[in-house]
Amino acid sequence: MQGGAEVFTDLSRFDAVYEEMTKLNELFKKVTKVSEQFSSMPSPFPLFHSSATKIKVEGNLDSGLLMNQIRKKFSAFHIPFLGGLRVEKFEKTSNGIILEGDGFEFLTEKILFATNAFASQKPLDLPVRPGRGLVKVSSPLSYPFPNGTFHLDRGYTYFRKVDGNRLLIGGFRNLDQKTEETLEVGQNEVISSAINMVTERNILGFLPNWDYSWNGWMGFTENESPIIQTIDDGIVVAAGMNGMGVSLGPFVALEALRLFR
Ligand SMILES: Cc1cc2nc3c(=O)[nH]c(=O)nc-3n(C[C@H](O)[C@H](O)[C@H](O)COP(=O)(O)OP(=O)(O)OC[C@H]3O[C@@H](n4cnc5c(N)ncnc54)[C@H](O)[C@@H]3O)c2cc1C
Repeated sequence: MQGGAEVFTDLSRFDAVYEEMTKLNELFKKVTKVSEQFSSMPSPFPLFHSSATKIKVEGNLDSGLLMNQIRKKFSAFHIPFLGGLRVEKFEKTSNGIILEGDGFEFLTEKILFATNAFASQKPLDLPVRPGRGLVKVSSPLSYPFPNGTFHLDRGYTYFRKVDGNRLLIGGFRNLDQKTEETLEVGQNEVISSAINMVTERNILGFLPNWDYSWNGWMGFTENESPIIQTIDDGIVVAAGMNGMGVSLGPFVALEALRLFR
């Protein structure tokens, strides 16, 4: 695990974290047995405030590799993996559950809806509030970028290197939170400009070429806990990961599976 760091543009924010560090370390150790999870360090990026918060145990994953592994598992169990099919309706019948969408119909014995932010739409219409994220990836950089996962502004903005030596950066949803409560694909110009600005001013010192950008979605619930529930016999939903689905996913999946037993 490469660890990570929270970097700061504002000294008062660093001081506030520093004051609570001993307490935070105690709380973290109680749960994880990891000591000194948080400590202060010189910022790895000279254009941010000179002090940063080091985070000893923080990992990141390659979502492409994750999807490959999931497909391999499906294949090992001889389960077809069908993407791009939007379920619009489901109906429980005496023969099983019928799933229907544009031009297809399936009969299944059991179904787990794991549509996260999209659970707010048909066919579930659950109380999940969508949060759209914008992520950009630069062309390869010509100098070594530090290892690790970095974030600023309470974690709202995050960056790291990917695919060799490209900068990946996303976030700033908090600058226009209401507009970003949408499932539409799109680029919010306020957020896009903020990503450009912090990249140029604080991270790289110049504006790179962006080779890719995309939207991803988070799903928020009123009580900030995922919805894991049985809708009907053999029909379960696990949605509303509150922006923590990568870390919560394996535990949520186990809970959801228990509901089928
Ligand atoms: C920019 C960004 C940064 C994040 N950072 C972190 C982080 O640091 N740590 C962390 O733990 N989490 C993070 N998250 C959250 C995490 O990515 C999500 O919680 C996680 O991806 C949710 O996974 P999921 O499989 O439940 O849902 P999703 O990955 O959203 O998958 C839902 C799937 O359901 C499909 N679908 C939707 N409607 C239908 C339908 N009607 N019929 C059939 N299929 C449908 C969608 O096409 C999609 O493939 C981040 C999210 C974003 C956007």
